Amino acid sequence: MVLRELGLRPRKKLSQSFTVDPELIRTIADTCNEWHGPVIEVGAGLGALTKALLDRGIEVLAIEIDQRLATFLKKSMGSEILHVVVGDAREMVLCSRLPVVGNIPYHITSDLLLAIARSRTPKACLTVQLEVANRLIARPGTKEYGRLTVITNYLFRKRILRIFPPSSFYPEPEVYSAVVVMERVRPYDSTARLIEDVGRCLFSFRRRKLRTALARCFGECTVDDHLREKRVYELGVEDIVSIAYTCLGRR
Ligand code: SAM
Repeated sequence: MVLRELGLRPRKKLSQSFTVDPELIRTIADTCNEWHGPVIEVGAGLGALTKALLDRGIEVLAIEIDQRLATFLKKSMGSEILHVVVGDAREMVLCSRLPVVGNIPYHITSDLLLAIARSRTPKACLTVQLEVANRLIARPGTKEYGRLTVITNYLFRKRILRIFPPSSFYPEPEVYSAVVVMERVRPYDSTARLIEDVGRCLFSFRRRKLRTALARCFGECTVDDHLREKRVYELGVEDIVSIAYTCLGRR
């Protein structure tokens, strides 16, 4: 295997688990192919997905934090439509307008999803932990539903394309994975900012009645009676928007 030839050991703290499943690679690459334009690839690693994207004529800005892998990528791909940048994808994605793809490093999943949400990225196709994919598409009132669901519901249309087992990667992660697609339906605006702020506090009291959570988060703040008796994890995105404007928006 390439890793052995290069004398490299996967670094667990960088979530270095490389894709060995051609179906997973094809699922993402074929989706990007329909987008017709350049993409950012997060955590390009040894380039399994990068190569599939380049083979389809897709221009790739590959972000890789590990200098050893970035050097290997540049040398091995030798393509004019590949641009390799060494750095932290969380920071770079934040300033981006391009679609984002990748078999992402799982230790940065939440940060990266929030960076994508706050950026001008129009769409994303990502492999994430199945548990995170379920949180993204969760319905209010379920145990998976949380603040990540709420902010992404406001900003994106989302769907799970396919689920993959740990054996799709080497070394194998401890969890199942899922390829998700997110398509932006509105820009990150002042309401999105409010939803994030309100969601962060309310969901730290997720099983409490809203009236209790509100008192803890905002002290004085009166909302409609039908909302006060709901539990935090039962609130839909439109409820959170209404609470955000009532409790924060007019301050
Ligand atoms: N895309 C490759 C594949 O499919 O085989 C590698 C996937 S591996 C799960 C994640 C990659 O992200 C690793 O190469 C790791 O070095 C890189 N990485 C880890 N943290 C990163 C960060 N903050 N920004 C950019 N890349 C990162």
